[in-house]
Amino acid sequence: MTIPFVDLRAQYERYRDELDAAMANVMAETAFISGKHAAAFEQAFAKYAQRDHAIACANGTDSLEVLLDCLGLEAGDEVIVPALSWISTSEVVGTRGAKPVFVDIDASYTLDPAALEAAITERTVGVIPVHLYGRPANMPAIMAVAETHELWVLEDCAQAHGAEWNGQRIATFGDCASFSFYPGKNLGAYGDAGGMVTNDDAIARVARMICNHGQPQKHQHMMEGRNSRMDGLQAAVLNVKLQYIETWTEERRQVANWYRELLPGSGVELPVEDGNHRVVYHLFVVQCDNRNGLRDHLKAHGISTGIHYPTPLPLMPCYAAFGLSAADFPVAARACDRMLSLPIYPEMTRDMVAHVAEHIRSFHAG
Ligand SMILES: *Cc1c(COP(=O)(O)O)cnc(C)c1O
Repeated sequence: MTIPFVDLRAQYERYRDELDAAMANVMAETAFISGKHAAAFEQAFAKYAQRDHAIACANGTDSLEVLLDCLGLEAGDEVIVPALSWISTSEVVGTRGAKPVFVDIDASYTLDPAALEAAITERTVGVIPVHLYGRPANMPAIMAVAETHELWVLEDCAQAHGAEWNGQRIATFGDCASFSFYPGKNLGAYGDAGGMVTNDDAIARVARMICNHGQPQKHQHMMEGRNSRMDGLQAAVLNVKLQYIETWTEERRQVANWYRELLPGSGVELPVEDGNHRVVYHLFVVQCDNRNGLRDHLKAHGISTGIHYPTPLPLMPCYAAFGLSAADFPVAARACDRMLSLPIYPEMTRDMVAHVAEHIRSFHAG
């Protein structure tokens, strides 16, 4: 049995007729940029995210960057970000001329609220919590710290469409939130795409303007903006897929439950499960001492895995000037050496999960 890490083809085959029809429609209408499909998606996604406004854009890095501009980020400001994430979370701060200040994660792989409080300085203006791997960050604790210190909060929801902390949807806690619809994300387009949500009318208005060259109306450039629009093909694909995101989320959660049932005693540590949270399992990340050995063993048995991520962000070459070391982020650094992402996607069957579990067991037995 060969088990890929993700299987986007399986999902395409499952909805092929609907997706092909939606894409053919866009081409027949030549509705290539923004337009009615993107507008329909914005409306549907705002409803899904339980926010007043959704603004579609070109990708999930742009959505973070545009929101930072809406929040008034200036050169020299400090923004607190977790030490473990995809580079987008910190690079958008640096490319705006501000400074990303990294803090460690806790056992949930998300930003440690205590470390957040300790990292605040005179220059701190905001925080970007990341709901990593589909697990919600501790938003009540993060919001409490942010309110005390009058910081804005931008939620990076790229890996967590539909996740909930104690019954409350992510993206409804902070001032605004950013989503990615990169093909491999829980809700993925067939190319790059991203989106922003907020209840703040001013943020929504400015974000929309920035993404379309600062023009609320054609040839009325109120400010210098940029070109970051969602294209019609991506919007049409997302309009089809948004109808199924809840089904897929439950299927992912089922796969995770099978792992939780079949992995105990196999020699790996499972992701923590605590509180009444809806984890949407973008990734299912386990830990063990000989991670690389396990990875090779699984590969030899046709099972593909991933490492998310091999290096904490502050230890990347681009941040060498900060002079930080693994000792500054003990939880993230230890996790980076030990983590392995197992295959997880909605179309996985219990047999496939059992196959993965069996070979993890055989590695540790042998
Ligand atoms: C994927 C991702 C992004 C960026 O999204 P793109 O659409 O690839 O630009 C940002 N943050 C996190 C945590 C991500 O996983």
